[in-house]
Amino acid sequence: MGIARSILLWGSQNRWIENQFRRRRFARYAVSRFIPGEDIDSALAEAKKLGRRNISTVVTQLGENLTSMDEADQVAAHYIDVLDKTDDLGLNCHISIKPTQLGLDLDKKQTAKHLEALVVHAASRNNVIWVDMEASKYVDATLDLYCQLRERHENMGLCLQAYLHRTPQDVDRLLAMGSAIRLVKGAYREPPNVAMARKRDVDDAFVRLATTIAGQAARGTAIKPGIATHDMTIIAELRRIAADRHWENAFEVQMLYGIRRAEQLRHAEAGVPTRVLISYGPAWFAWYMRRLAERPANMGFVLRAMFWR
Ligand SMILES: Cc1cc2nc3c(=O)[nH]c(=O)nc-3n(C[C@H](O)[C@H](O)[C@H](O)COP(=O)(O)OP(=O)(O)OC[C@H]3O[C@@H](n4cnc5c(N)ncnc54)[C@H](O)[C@@H]3O)c2cc1C
Repeated sequence: MGIARSILLWGSQNRWIENQFRRRRFARYAVSRFIPGEDIDSALAEAKKLGRRNISTVVTQLGENLTSMDEADQVAAHYIDVLDKTDDLGLNCHISIKPTQLGLDLDKKQTAKHLEALVVHAASRNNVIWVDMEASKYVDATLDLYCQLRERHENMGLCLQAYLHRTPQDVDRLLAMGSAIRLVKGAYREPPNVAMARKRDVDDAFVRLATTIAGQAARGTAIKPGIATHDMTIIAELRRIAADRHWENAFEVQMLYGIRRAEQLRHAEAGVPTRVLISYGPAWFAWYMRRLAERPANMGFVLRAMFWR
């Protein structure tokens, strides 16, 4: 892992840096490239615009690691409201949730209750709930939570991270259940005994796992899996494999709001199922730092916002 990436990931957990950054006016401008606003209405307004360009969406309220279950109750109530709003607006817009936002650190039973209530409500609104994957210490608890609910509800999908050594087994487990998977490279700082350190190894693992996931989905699935990456070389390779094997529509290409916008449009115009994840909310700092860590060159954008605005 590069030094800049390590520093940015370390900074994402540092309260002092967060407070300093939040106080600066340029910060809001820099962040707006990736986050349309702090409230759900700004996210849904963007979802509507993208929908007109044939791009589906998935929304997520930023925030993780709550300190009280009262906060989790509020998050759950918020997402019920979001499910109602997306349905009322007629959007093809899923919801994505971090288990720690629903209280995974504090009370596993209550977290499961909240998640189940959301999945049930989503089903009544013909919608889908995606569960995010957080740092590696949460993987077992997240899988337990997810698998226990997935036995009763089909309108769910889980994110798995290609950089973890364990992920091939987790992919097999989920595919055996018929579950949808969103495959990502992985965004957290992990030790080498847990996650691959070399980018090339992660990329190879991603292609291998994505091919397995898409191959299974091509045999028929209720929810399309998400191949979630901005890596155009990987997407091109997967599209080539899919074309050879007649799997073209078996998966969605998923990307983050504000990243590779031109390619998002190009894929959607070419008929590739495309979904964009839009984040919103006041707790944007850790998330934003992880995006900078993925591409430290984005710091140039922050510097421009500091000095030229
Ligand atoms: C829909 C979606 C959901 C996700 N959910 C999770 C999750 O639940 N858990 C989790 O750990 N991670 C999640 N991620 C993040 C993921 O793990 C990666 O950190 C992120 O997608 C960057 O990796 P990459 O696959 O784009 O490849 P990289 O190799 O990092 O990037 C490939 C190329 O894409 C471009 N690019 C990538 N990131 C940026 C950026 N921030 N700004 C500008 N250009 C960029 C660059 O040109 C780069 O060369 C999610 C990502 C997406 C798209």
